[in-house]
Amino acid sequence: MLLTITYKGTAESPATDLGYLLHKNPGRLHELEISFGKAYIFYPEASEGGCTVALLLDVDPVGLVRGRRGSSGEGFSLEQYVNDRPYVASSFMSVALAKAFGTALSGRSKERPDLAEATLTLTVHIAALACKEGDDFLRKLFEPLGYQVTIEGYQLDEKFPEWGASPYYTVELAGQVRLRDLLSHLYVLIPVLDDEKHYWVGEDEIEKLLKFGAGWLAAHPEREAITNRYLKRQRHLTTAALARLAEGTPDDDVAEEVHDLEETLVEEKISLNQQRLGSVMSILKASGAKRILDLGCGEGRLLRLLLEDRSFTEIVGVDVSYRVLEKAKERLHMDRMPERQKERIKLVHGSLTYKDARLSGFDAAAVVEVIEHLDPPRLAAFERVLFEFARPGVVVTTTPNREYNSMWESLPAGKFRHRDHRFEWSRAEFQDWATGVAEKFGYSVRFLPVGSEDAAVGAPTQMGVFTRE
Ligand code: SAH
Repeated sequence: MLLTITYKGTAESPATDLGYLLHKNPGRLHELEISFGKAYIFYPEASEGGCTVALLLDVDPVGLVRGRRGSSGEGFSLEQYVNDRPYVASSFMSVALAKAFGTALSGRSKERPDLAEATLTLTVHIAALACKEGDDFLRKLFEPLGYQVTIEGYQLDEKFPEWGASPYYTVELAGQVRLRDLLSHLYVLIPVLDDEKHYWVGEDEIEKLLKFGAGWLAAHPEREAITNRYLKRQRHLTTAALARLAEGTPDDDVAEEVHDLEETLVEEKISLNQQRLGSVMSILKASGAKRILDLGCGEGRLLRLLLEDRSFTEIVGVDVSYRVLEKAKERLHMDRMPERQKERIKLVHGSLTYKDARLSGFDAAAVVEVIEHLDPPRLAAFERVLFEFARPGVVVTTTPNREYNSMWESLPAGKFRHRDHRFEWSRAEFQDWATGVAEKFGYSVRFLPVGSEDAAVGAPTQMGVFTRE
């Protein structure tokens, strides 16, 4: 399915500014992995007088079934394989829009902030929009927002005119509009038209609707129909959303929330990362440990926090990758570090699957998001290196909780969170492993969740804290 946006430019701003506004270079083909397939962003035209960006979705219908997304369980038995999902603009398009153009959707532009606030002449072309009610409803949705709507309809089959009209339309919207408003309109109204959301609808959908509907939905003559369909006709949600629309949401809050959106959508990992490091730091601090190993230290995020806390007197980062150690050195500004600070930290190039005398005699070791990078046959070697030979008083390990992966829209079903992961464990698998290790090497172990915990699938990260007995 294909959606294009065209900007013709003005005397002051060449059309290619669209690339700056969308944060996507017109000279390149951009590819995004999304849970339901792939999105491609490219520019069929990029000259000063006209610039068109295309968002092409390649939905993987088999993946959808495997991930059990998009199937309602109703309909005929082959419906999950034979359906219009790969061809029609639907909520998949909204997810892709938010992912591809999150910054523009939030109204930000580093290079062209003024243009991001300006009303531009923009034209959108959507190859296939479903609208069972016919083109009248399509107009009712877009015309009140100031768009000129051009609709091309089709017969279901030219050979059988008696079958009537197809519910699919090719639609062009032309308007004088801010880019962020255009993207918000599309984000909300495409799934409203499609009227078939591919995932379950919950309270957080109200938040999304209000966020993207900010500034236009409350005054839209079709707000009830839009709200009702967006929330999949769940009356309790619709009532709540309409009440909040009527109340109005303070603009600042909305702006704030929209600004956070890109981060929560695309960079959810960052906040999780911080939470994880925060949890590890508090365990290390509470243990009273002074001499700390950071095993698989990567680029040194934890090392930096450890350095900031003077209660840690000796800090050693270990990694198998020379390249990341170089990065860590750079990020920590080790070249320019005052002598007293420099004495506290050391970076060691080594592998955790080989016995290493340099790792002995420490109070505590952190092993943050590392074990899932080890080949399963090498795990036993790692266990001995750490728990038998290095033998620190406390070991803090974290690893992804595989059960939580289903909560991430953007994570392809059955895929790991990171390309380098050799495995991801469920909570039971991690706890089995950790309990076995603790028993074998004379440690006790307790488990803690990291990140917001879901009642069914747990928290995104799981942590095990081993204490030498
Ligand atoms: N602890 C860091 C990095 C996690 S990524 C953080 O939380 O940000 C995993 C790290 O483990 C990578 O830097 C990788 O190079 C390292 N690693 C993987 N296998 C290793 C091994 N056998 N020995 C030491 N480090 C290893």
